[in-house]
Amino acid sequence: MDKKNVKPTTCPLCGRTYTGAPAVSRTDNTTLICPDCGTRQALADMGVDAEEQERILDIIHRCRPQ
Ligand SMILES: [Zn+2]
Repeated sequence: MDKKNVKPTTCPLCGRTYTGAPAVSRTDNTTLICPDCGTRQALADMGVDAEEQERILDIIHRCRPQ
């Protein structure tokens, strides 16, 4: 019932609307992006390729109700 400060924000990277805590882009340390893009950038930094990033995000989504 009491959802406080849940303001939808549009992610500048993927264009999706998200709520909740944003991530900070690793490319400029300023831009606020959605948690998924934050995860993608973190995985990319570790050398994970795009296909594997999506698989990992899929697993995260299954464990985390949106
Ligand atoms: Zn995004």
